[in-house]
This record gives sequence, C-alpha cells and structure tokens, in this order.
Amino acid sequence: MVGGYRLPSVGTTLQLDRHCPDCQRPHGRIHSGVRRRHIRDWKVTWVPQRRMICPDCGLTWTLRAQGVHPGRQRSDRVRALAVLAYMLGLSYRGVAMLLQALGSGGSKSTAERDVAQAGQKAQRLHQASRRLGVRVLGVDGTGAALAGRDAGMLFFVDIDGRRLLFAARVQESDAAAVRRHVGRLMRQVGARELRTDEHGVYERIVPEGQHRLCLAHWRKSKGKRACELMRQAVAEHRPLEAESMSRLLELLRLKPRPPTPPPELESLVRRYSRCRKGLLWKINQLLQHVERTWEKVSDDPADPTNNVTERIIGLTFKIRAKTMRGFKATHKLVAHPYLASFLRGQAGACDLCEVI
Ligand SMILES: [Zn+2]
Repeated sequence: MVGGYRLPSVGTTLQLDRHCPDCQRPHGRIHSGVRRRHIRDWKVTWVPQRRMICPDCGLTWTLRAQGVHPGRQRSDRVRALAVLAYMLGLSYRGVAMLLQALGSGGSKSTAERDVAQAGQKAQRLHQASRRLGVRVLGVDGTGAALAGRDAGMLFFVDIDGRRLLFAARVQESDAAAVRRHVGRLMRQVGARELRTDEHGVYERIVPEGQHRLCLAHWRKSKGKRACELMRQAVAEHRPLEAESMSRLLELLRLKPRPPTPPPELESLVRRYSRCRKGLLWKINQLLQHVERTWEKVSDDPADPTNNVTERIIGLTFKIRAKTMRGFKATHKLVAHPYLASFLRGQAGACDLCEVI
C-alpha cells in the first residue's frame, strides 16, 4: 500500500449559497437562524445549518456545512474511516469497536453498510473511467465464499497498467460463461494478447497466436514434472533418463528464452518418441508437451507472466475471503475488488471523498 489517504473534512462554517436547488435562481433568503446539528465525529460534535427559502418558487431547504450527508448522524469522515479500516484488515466488528473508542458511534451493521455503499460508488467510478487501449489482457479465476457457498470470480487485468479492469462472478469451470466474458472484454479493450495460465477453458477464444501462456506458470509446472520424473529415474537406477530430465530443466530455465523449441529439445523428443511404457512413456509425454506448448508461452519483452493478475487477486480478494466467513450478497462480492483497486489509488494518492 503506497501513498496517503485523504479523509473527508467536516466544515465548521456555513457558506451562504443563495441558489435555489429547485429553480436555480440566486435569490434565496435566510429563513432561520443558525442551528447546531449534533453529529458523530471524533473532532467536532456539531455542525451549523440553517433553513433557506426561495422567494421565486417558495421552496425551503437546509443549508448544511460540508462533510455530513443529509439524513446522516455520522460525519463523512467517520464513514470514510470505517471503510478504510475495514479495507486495511479489520472486521466489521473491529471497525465498530474502533469508532466507538473514538466516540464516533456506529455498529457492525452500519460499518457493513458504509463499505457496501463505498464499494458501489467505487465500481461506478471505475466503470466510468475504464480506459481503452489495453495491450495485454491477463485473466485468472479464484474461488470466494458467498453466503457459505463457493462462488467463482474471474478477474481481468491490464498487465502493462497493473490495474484491475473488470471482475465478474463466474466459475472457471463454466466454460461457456468464461468464453463469453473473455471474448467480450478482449473486444472491448482491443487487447492484442490474452494471457492466462494453462487452463483448457481459455483455448481458442481468440485467434491462434494471440493467446499466450504465463511464462512463470509454465516454467513452474513443467519444471515440477521434470523434477518428479528425474527423482523416479534415480530411484529406478536409470542414469541416462535422469540426465535427460536434468537437461530438460536447463532448457526450461534458458535465458534469454528461444522463441522456438531449441534443437536439443527436439533431439530429446526424438529419443523418447517410440517409448510406450512406464517411466519412458511419461518422459515421452512430458517432452512432447513441452515442445508443443513452447511457442504458446508469452515472449513479451516487458512482462511475459500473469503475475500482475495473481497479485491483484491476492491483494484484493483471497486475504479478505480467508479472514471472514464470506460475502453475503453478490453485489458486495463484485464491488469489493473495485474498492480495493480504488484504495490503491492513482499515483499513490487516494481521496476517500470520492466514494463516500
Ligand atoms: Zn426557487
């Protein structure tokens, strides 16, 4: 978390604005003296307000100091602190206890309502500001608890911009829904590359060559398999096979990584291509798979991984989902990543007034 958070301030003086909220004419007259309205806040106990009347249309209205929404007892500052404290890790109960310690009132359920409302505002802000021109669209799914049941979430991330573009409630196993969302987002943002891990559901949504695998994920999963087979070769006293797997591991780790399968990989593939049994068959399968997927792995010079997507899911979602029993309603589940994204701020600063 970087940068500063700015909480809304609470005004102690009234700005005499004579504009009628209904007919907009600037002839409003003072209709009452200044009254003290008591509020819940840790710095001030009341704000001034007075009634105004419009001589043109007869409307009366209340002139308020800034920092308290109409009909609210708690100041915007208190509500913003509730949202911030929750997003930084306190539970709703913890937030209520913090605010009570500050003499600012509120309960578990008001904290929950503050967070839900801020989440919806953050989501609207986000949708209004969604930029086009994304080069690489990273996609990944995760599970989340919703009302005690498992609800999948799919995250769409601008890899270059390192920011969340869109979150949807979709199970990764629901192939039709995943394909629909991915296809729509790819068209919407005009991305040239779709970046995912090696999951069959993402195959053939975009033309061949546009879908690339995360290098980190690919290296890790192939490397893990090669290690397993190497250990098995050692246990079975097959030094030649152990040597082949050790060589494969080196090829997987090559830097810079050749864009096409290296000749040495092809000769390893040939060496095992007729093997149909036991360990040799497993090695054959792994080598063929590595050869087949070699060119599908991203060779993006800027960032060939999907790490940004995984980090955004981790930051916004898994941590929160682990510390609570889950989200109670879909709109809260979907709004949460947007609120987290908003709180990470633009250029390190975040003004909470925007979501309160
Ligand atoms: Zn008027």
